[in-house]
Amino acid sequence: MNSETLRERQRILQAERQRSYRERKRQIEKENTAPSKRTKEITDEINEISPVPKARVYPWISLGLRHHTLGNMTYKCNKCGAMMWLDERVTNSVKLPVFSTCCARGKVILPSLQELPSPLNTLLTGTDSRSCTFRQNIRMYNSALSFTSIGAKIDQQVTGTSGIYTFRIHGEMYHRIGSLLPDSETQPPQFAQIYIYDTDHEIQNRSNIMPGLDLIILAELQQMLHDINPYVNKFRQAGNLLKDNPSLDLKLVITNNRTNDP
Ligand SMILES: [Zn+2]
Repeated sequence: MNSETLRERQRILQAERQRSYRERKRQIEKENTAPSKRTKEITDEINEISPVPKARVYPWISLGLRHHTLGNMTYKCNKCGAMMWLDERVTNSVKLPVFSTCCARGKVILPSLQELPSPLNTLLTGTDSRSCTFRQNIRMYNSALSFTSIGAKIDQQVTGTSGIYTFRIHGEMYHRIGSLLPDSETQPPQFAQIYIYDTDHEIQNRSNIMPGLDLIILAELQQMLHDINPYVNKFRQAGNLLKDNPSLDLKLVITNNRTNDP
């Protein structure tokens, strides 16, 4: 996207936010003009128990709704540039809001993000239909190219179809890499096995696992990983060794220094 288009989109988004804010404000004023006695009592009660005293709680409870708003996230931390809500500011910074929850008032300085490799950079930021389709299905592309599945003791008591999705595990989450080869010739390769087994049909094997993806995008992403991902390189080396000598008893060990968390 060129900078002109980006600026135009930002201008349209800003105008849309302002229009929606004005409309919501009008609606609130309309509903607040004559609050009933009961509504006022309940509003006072909520304001009393509200854990964020400076936030506003509107008397929409007459409709059975409890609405809480922090306003728009339009304040920028002048140290790190994070967008914040006004109520997140340090208590005594009234005229010039100062924020500490983002960067501890500038004490935490994160390194700049690395430039993304192609074609991931254009797929993540592009406005063309191909990029949009990619982003809509990004988790499927991720799964089709991943090395492992996750392993954890999942607490099934809190998972369910209703309400906010909750995922709770007990202990530690880890990645589970199984055998380098499928258990039998009839079993299709999956995860890291696809980088090693039947590599002539790598794209097709991925597509079999995650049908419906754009094969050209999938092939481009796969090539990107082949070019730059050090683990792909190691897995392919192991695959070549196994191809040359199928009876080879081969183990691929990846060790990580846990004290050096990036
Ligand atoms: Zn900050």
